[in-house]
Amino acid sequence: MNASIVLFTADLRLHDHPPLRAASAGGRPVVPLFVRDRGVADAGFAVPNRLAFLADCLRDLDAGLRERGGRLVVRSGDVVEEVCGVAAAVDADEVHMAADVSAYAHRRERRLRRALEADGRRLLVHDTVTTVVPPGALTPAASDHFAVFTPYFRHWSAQRLRDVVGVPRSVRVPDGIASEGLPSRTTLSGVSAGLVSGGESAGRGGLTWWLRSGLAGYADRQDDLAGDATSRLSPHLHFGTLSPVELVHRARTVGGPGAEAFVRQLAWRDFHRQVLAARPAAAGVDYRTRHDRWRSGRTARADVEAWREGRTGYPVIDAAMRQLRHEGWMHNRGRLLTASFLTKTLYVDWRVGARHFLDLLVDGDIADNQLNWQWVAGTGTDTRPNRVLNPVAQGRRHDPDGAYVRRWVPELAGVPGAAVHEPWKLRGEGRPGIGAYPDPIVDLADGLARFERARSQAYT
Ligand code: FAD
Repeated sequence: MNASIVLFTADLRLHDHPPLRAASAGGRPVVPLFVRDRGVADAGFAVPNRLAFLADCLRDLDAGLRERGGRLVVRSGDVVEEVCGVAAAVDADEVHMAADVSAYAHRRERRLRRALEADGRRLLVHDTVTTVVPPGALTPAASDHFAVFTPYFRHWSAQRLRDVVGVPRSVRVPDGIASEGLPSRTTLSGVSAGLVSGGESAGRGGLTWWLRSGLAGYADRQDDLAGDATSRLSPHLHFGTLSPVELVHRARTVGGPGAEAFVRQLAWRDFHRQVLAARPAAAGVDYRTRHDRWRSGRTARADVEAWREGRTGYPVIDAAMRQLRHEGWMHNRGRLLTASFLTKTLYVDWRVGARHFLDLLVDGDIADNQLNWQWVAGTGTDTRPNRVLNPVAQGRRHDPDGAYVRRWVPELAGVPGAAVHEPWKLRGEGRPGIGAYPDPIVDLADGLARFERARSQAYT
């Protein structure tokens, strides 16, 4: 019986994994392979926080395979060369992998298919491994993708989901296939101090907790910055240690408004994927140009630096930017506010902010990050592209007691309640620490006027 290969990419799990299930059917020998892809590092995508999480994922995947009699084979280099090398060594007739959406993933798939077919082998690409509904499966009448979320979500919700696939009881790996040692997070520098652990076991633990204790309150509390009441499952979805199809099934089984709101967010994830699959260039260029001439001079650079460091003088912005640096993760409401502040109040190019997020986010993802940045900047799929979020009003609304700000901005720890959102009003009261907190780098009314002027000129 010929062996087959499962090439793991952004699907680092054993549960609900159709490629592994298909490859190992009938006790067939299989090589579970992960390639530390040189192309990903060359593209500047291999940053410490995600490398650390990835190291945890690979160790956990290897441990899970060993429990079933197998092991993970790890190689480094060009993914096509490595897969073809292993395929030749075990004379594999099939390689199974999950479909993915970026331009890079499409190129990788094309190159791999060509190289394997030249050797008489087959590449089998499985959809619904990293998405619930495959990109391109739903299209409106006159386009190859949906550009507006609401109609997409209507169609998406009506789709029949495939069943969850069971974990193979045993995995038989052919002898004599060399593997590198597994990477470890302890050898990495520059990892955020508060970064969570990765791996399928951690993901499944988080999911169990979430379904029991978090989901029911999600609809009411998803924007509560201090309450931190979202699932925090995004890194597991990014690395595929959890299956989005399984998440939808299990949330629907629990039911209720919390589950509905949560499933809707998972649909946003698919929505961005179908946009990127149809318009891969949207990772780097405006999806809908507004002809912006973004600020880029010396003062703009100083503003960006203050934004990155969490020193803008707007407490909720600074709290969120400091959370990002400390944890490699940021609350969704924080992402919306900090991205609006950069692109609209400071009128700086969304790509500058998106790059900084990708440098730090453990869930940093080309589809979700770039298209959410475009959504906030008004160059993407938002149907109200010129809306601007006011960080003081938003802070009062989503952090009414100020606890989120006090958690991340120690200079303001002594300021009680919502007063923390306007510290400049407290100057001269002699509160300890507050003197170390910066004055606002921009007046909100000036920032708004500048943005409105720029956008109205850009249209003419
Ligand atoms: P929950 O609220 O528990 O939501 C459950 C899941 O739904 C998330 O894990 C995520 O997979 C998905 N989801 C939720 N909101 C969105 C959304 N707006 N778009 C797409 N999927 C969503 N998410 C990423 O996974 N990676 C990114 O790089 C990323 N960059 C972002 C950048 C900006 C400027 C903005 C505004 C949002 C970004 N998001 C990104 C979306 C969202 O902020 C995160 O998915 C969410 O905060 C993760 O926390 P959670 O797992 O607790 O989410």
